[in-house]
Amino acid sequence: MSKDLFTADDQTSIVEAIKMAEKQTSGEIRVHIEPNCRLDPIDRALEMFTQLQMHTTALKNSVLIYVATEDKKFAIIGDEGIHEKVKDAFWNEEKELMFTHFSSGNFTGGLTQAILKVGEKLKLHFPYLESDTDELSNDISFGEKTDA
Ligand code: CA
Ligand code: CA
Repeated sequence: MSKDLFTADDQTSIVEAIKMAEKQTSGEIRVHIEPNCRLDPIDRALEMFTQLQMHTTALKNSVLIYVATEDKKFAIIGDEGIHEKVKDAFWNEEKELMFTHFSSGNFTGGLTQAILKVGEKLKLHFPYLESDTDELSNDISFGEKTDA
């Protein structure tokens, strides 16, 4: 179970990072974690993006960070509103940041730092609005073993 890699404190740190990031932007960030990924991680992230209804934000500015802990694959993708602003260079920077942490087994550190960086970037293009609502849950989405 990939969930076992994350203590209650780890999970709280990740959710708190999402909340902190979302206080600066109208954008939404979600994290999906599962053990296995047989697909290209980008394709799997796109599947989860749909499954988690992440295309429903008003400004098309949601970002999904996807991690397959056992198969050591991960991806970060954004909806079209954010993607057309940041281009590939930003996603690549985030991937490198996460790779550095993940390769030493520090999933929580990699995720929280990437989330905060995404928050900073979203803030530039999609500043926080008084009318902000939490369009997508801040909770981590955990997948089960094998069915990925
Ligand atoms: Ca929001
Ligand atoms: Ca949210």
